[in-house]
Amino acid sequence: MSDLARRAEKLDATDELAAKRGEFELDDTVYLDGNSLGALPAAVPGRVEDVVRRQWGRLRIRSWDESGWWTAPERIGDRIAPLVGAAPGQIVVGDSTSVNVFKALVAAVRMAGPGRDEIVVDASTFPTDGYIAESAARLTGCALRPVRPAELPGALGARTAAVLVNHVDYRTGRLHDLPSLTAAVHAAGALAVWDLCHSAGALPVGLDAHGVDLAVGCTYKYLNGGPGAPAYLYVRRELQDRFDSPLPGWNSHADPFGMSPAYTPAPGALRGRVGTPDILSLLALEAALEVWEGVPVEAVRAKSLALTDFFLECVTAYVPPGAVECLTPLAHAERGSQVALRCADAGDVMKRLIDRGVVGDFRHPDVLRFGFTPLYVGFADVERAARVLGEVLGEVLDEVAGGRAE
Ligand SMILES: *Cc1c(COP(=O)(O)O)cnc(C)c1O
Repeated sequence: MSDLARRAEKLDATDELAAKRGEFELDDTVYLDGNSLGALPAAVPGRVEDVVRRQWGRLRIRSWDESGWWTAPERIGDRIAPLVGAAPGQIVVGDSTSVNVFKALVAAVRMAGPGRDEIVVDASTFPTDGYIAESAARLTGCALRPVRPAELPGALGARTAAVLVNHVDYRTGRLHDLPSLTAAVHAAGALAVWDLCHSAGALPVGLDAHGVDLAVGCTYKYLNGGPGAPAYLYVRRELQDRFDSPLPGWNSHADPFGMSPAYTPAPGALRGRVGTPDILSLLALEAALEVWEGVPVEAVRAKSLALTDFFLECVTAYVPPGAVECLTPLAHAERGSQVALRCADAGDVMKRLIDRGVVGDFRHPDVLRFGFTPLYVGFADVERAARVLGEVLGEVLDEVAGGRAE
């Protein structure tokens, strides 16, 4: 056994979150793709079976009240709230992240003061946020200005209405400074909209503490809600009365069953709802969130950093020199819960890794992404992933050298 393998054993033995792995359905593959699709919590299949067979099958329409279907979007929002540092009553679950980006951005522009006609968007954003921001800008008569997060403070001014930033860059794993950027947005008199897709469930966010105005995020990555699980929308309490949704569906009406032709928005978080909630996905998510019971986000963050530190150390030890370049910042304050490595033939390298039981993903054109989900990834997984990566890259280099010699 190598020194690193022994170290991994020791780290696993003292890991206070180690028992959480047993609450997930996993096999002996090393699953480092929880930043794309979180693993299945073991409680979910039984719950979904009950929701389908008993709640839907037997109670039928009664379940809207008796099984708590109608209030699920706010109830589940309150379950997500402590994970992102929000007091209850400010988060509603439903629709996709893309749709919630649209609601948040248009509503932010509508709340911004007069004369503010510019939306600033993270230039390195996940594509959907950029597409939606462009459309939101056109609809609200704003100009769209893409700015790199590091250059944000200097780019804000009297025309800025809203700023949309990703908390963690989906490609590089870079963590942006939410407190200071939010303060800069507020100093310019604009509203801050944060996309938490790659941070919620992996690190503390502190939405209330830092005065974030609006936030969105998905639940199928670090929150393990399942494929296509509904996203969430946070609207800071002080702004809720002014939140003017661009998608005012009947579910956000103050009296939805009054069936009035005139729209009167509901108070509070439920103003962010649109249409009938997707109950099957919502209740699968609710069961998935039970794994967070008693888990402090600070412990998750500490383990996440220990995992990524150890992975980087193992990569340095096992991977042929110069074969990869790390795109993820080494400073803890700038690192999310993933490591992105640039290398030649990254698509082929990832295929070979997956064939050998190490699952990460490939992002065009040359990036290997490894996501570290502290609730179910252990240090032995990390050591094995780096060791197999070293073997695969060694083979690829040998093949290239062999090809040259022929
Ligand atoms: C994963 C992700 C999304 C996904 O959006 P959907 O509407 O759920 O497909 C959006 N934005 C970011 C930053 C993401 O990482």
